[in-house]
Amino acid sequence: MSARRHPALSATDPELASFVAAEEVLQAQTLRLIPSENYVSAAVLEASGTVLQNKYSEGYPGRRYYEGQQNIDRVEALAIERAKGLFGVDHANVQPYSGSPANLAVYLAFAKPGDTVMGMALPMGGHLTHGWGVSATGSWFRGVQYGVSAETGLIDYDAVRELALAERPKLIFCGGTALPRTIDFAAFAEIAREAGSILVADVAHIAGLIAGGAHPSPAGHVDVISTTTHKTLRGPRGAMLMCREEHAKAIDKAVFPGLQGGPHNQTTAGIAVALHEAAQPSFVTYAHAVVANAKALAAALLERGFDLVSGGTDNHLILMDLTGKDVPGKVAAKALDRAGIVVNYNTVPFDPRKPFDPSGVRIGTPSLTSRGLSAEHMPVVADWISRSVDAAAKGDEPALAVVRAEVADLMAAFPAPGLPLS
Ligand SMILES: *Cc1c(COP(=O)(O)O)cnc(C)c1O
Repeated sequence: MSARRHPALSATDPELASFVAAEEVLQAQTLRLIPSENYVSAAVLEASGTVLQNKYSEGYPGRRYYEGQQNIDRVEALAIERAKGLFGVDHANVQPYSGSPANLAVYLAFAKPGDTVMGMALPMGGHLTHGWGVSATGSWFRGVQYGVSAETGLIDYDAVRELALAERPKLIFCGGTALPRTIDFAAFAEIAREAGSILVADVAHIAGLIAGGAHPSPAGHVDVISTTTHKTLRGPRGAMLMCREEHAKAIDKAVFPGLQGGPHNQTTAGIAVALHEAAQPSFVTYAHAVVANAKALAAALLERGFDLVSGGTDNHLILMDLTGKDVPGKVAAKALDRAGIVVNYNTVPFDPRKPFDPSGVRIGTPSLTSRGLSAEHMPVVADWISRSVDAAAKGDEPALAVVRAEVADLMAAFPAPGLPLS
């Protein structure tokens, strides 16, 4: 199978080719519920593996430090135009290597080491790069962190305002990695205005939902939009920074030459294709289906006695607190993996357990929706999760094997984009 799909690779390096082939089978046969993952289309996969790989292009379209940019400039300009059109922004930089370096570029553009920066705490659902201690952003800058309300699991905007006015941070980040609810960008904008802070919306997780109209857009509310391109946006691993014209120079200078060298042109090409796909009517349908599936899955999990942070979801993501099931998140995640259901263990807000052994499991619907599963399948998915978590509690390995076979059976009927295996 792999020899046919990757003939040169199989001939040159059969060992490596066998790992890729095994990963193709794994991605085809399992139910992938990690909310930051997806399946790119065959077109994105092809664009990401082109000879654009061979070209050095330090600089920006029309302003390069190397010659021979006739085609590369067109590729990058196309990606930029598509990003601007899709997200309704003045300026887009498509060169950041990934989400973390993109965020680092924002610090470089607007802050100096030691400045106060504000973001959501990692254990509350924020990202490492929002000023959390173990990240460079938390050691080179003075990170102050907000969270969610213990009662509701929702962002307490009054508490955010109070902290912002007390600390007057240079930067405020909104957005995160484990937030099941809609972000109120207008509320953050008002707070940032009062505090005199630059507001950054890190929409890495929800960029595809925004593009498809299934989550409000931060455009017009925030100073900078930071996003990865490989999560709900369904592009290659990469990132983009978008902003109003007034910040364009600062952002571009920070990405190159501030932080990076040559852009990954093959990735830029993949991003351009993904943005084109995300501008089609079918992507609007996709984004809304992702949310509909997540809501249906949340409802089915609640029916089966699961405790969900904030009581449900508005987006693609569900954070399950397994405390009541008497199974630690990591034990559940590993059991689910053996059952062919791929998730990640995750802290829940106010988690009494340690980050490497937390109480929660984080799941999401971007990948299964890309395969065409719909709301009617979500009770089945919830049932598999419930049976697997029960099996984990009892150490019932045969029950996990039964689920695994059922999962593979359904997945065979829903081939994944980019993976023509059945
Ligand atoms: C995924 C993510 C990032 C980081 O992206 P990488 O590509 O993994 O570096 C940054 N911010 C948020 C909110 C994310 O979810």
